[in-house]
Amino acid sequence: MNLTIDGDRLNRELHELGAISSEPAPVVTRVVFNEADLRARRFVGILCADAGLDLREDPVGNTFARWTGSEPMLPAVGTGSHIDAIPNAGLFDGCVGVLGGLEAIRALKRAGFSPRRSVELVIFTSEEPTRFGIGCFGSRMMSGALPSPACDTLRDTEGTSLDSARRAAGFGGELAAVRLPEGCYSAFLELHIEQGPILEQRNVDIGIVTAIAAPATLRIDIEGEGGHAGAVLMPQRRDAFLAGAEIALAVEAAAEASGAPDTVGTTGICDIFPRAVNSIPSRVHMEIDVRDIDGTRRDSVIEQINRAAEGIAEKRRVLLRKEVLNADPPALCNPGLIATVERACDAHRLTHQRMISRAYHDSLFMSVIAPVAMIFIPCRGGVSHRPDEYASPEYVAKGSLALAEALGELAS
Ligand SMILES: [Zn+2]
Repeated sequence: MNLTIDGDRLNRELHELGAISSEPAPVVTRVVFNEADLRARRFVGILCADAGLDLREDPVGNTFARWTGSEPMLPAVGTGSHIDAIPNAGLFDGCVGVLGGLEAIRALKRAGFSPRRSVELVIFTSEEPTRFGIGCFGSRMMSGALPSPACDTLRDTEGTSLDSARRAAGFGGELAAVRLPEGCYSAFLELHIEQGPILEQRNVDIGIVTAIAAPATLRIDIEGEGGHAGAVLMPQRRDAFLAGAEIALAVEAAAEASGAPDTVGTTGICDIFPRAVNSIPSRVHMEIDVRDIDGTRRDSVIEQINRAAEGIAEKRRVLLRKEVLNADPPALCNPGLIATVERACDAHRLTHQRMISRAYHDSLFMSVIAPVAMIFIPCRGGVSHRPDEYASPEYVAKGSLALAEALGELAS
């Protein structure tokens, strides 16, 4: 099979999609169900229709573009990613997997390939947690990890419910219908930028993901006692921020104590009330992210953080409210699919190495219902979620080529 990627076209389409944004270029902002997100969906939908794919949308807007195989009853081969973007993002995160996936399908068509299994491009709704606070919303629902009744409680900061937001965006139907049966895909491959520096530093074309780290988010609210920064003497204080500061250090200590380099803990949010220089902090709101490729080890780190937080609260005489917002299992990629991607790279003389994905992706949830693997390409400086995020057209084309070759093998 003579596979060629139209790198110029793919690059042009990436920039056209990137120009669809609720903020001026080079900033890309596309928050789920907002006007820019809906325009971007229409843009991609037209490209898929032009490529001769049959389109279907589910009740939350997950989009499926299918190239029907000669044996359409067989489980399909899936690929895809997301096109929503956090505020002030760039144009490669997610979009490389959607448009690179589409170009891979077009390359297979140009080469005269006829698939036995159907090949399906999936565009997932709201991989980013921006609006409703939950990441991988579309794939989470597809996999059954987020049961439809749980959606009823999801609201954005303006109080709009997810249900009314999706209906206003034109997506109706029963939420229960979003869940896909196990076995509907024989394989799922996601192409994505690395969002880290390893491939660029080592000058490697393709990273083949062996595992996706398991993310967890903890929310801690602390209530102490406020007062005048001059008048209340130190022994009388119940400073909520100092308790929070100790908890943040306990997060670091717990992550380090696991002994594994794959364990990471971050206190990314620490809001102080009333936030005045001459006032003792009375309340603190913290959000903590803990990840590991080993789910049990990750959970024991969370346990340590919880125990440490309780000890600190007792010592400092403050009240704690703790909540685990999500604690998702890690995903192991399928060894057979990893080998398929390695063969695909070798067939086109692309250098490759195995690696772990420390960011989460829709593949984390697709792994619940299908064997998955991921294809990473280098991005400049490992930078992502910023307007200066960049992957060269050469690497984007190489990623799409490796994907095309692998999809061809899997659909044969
Ligand atoms: Zn992404």
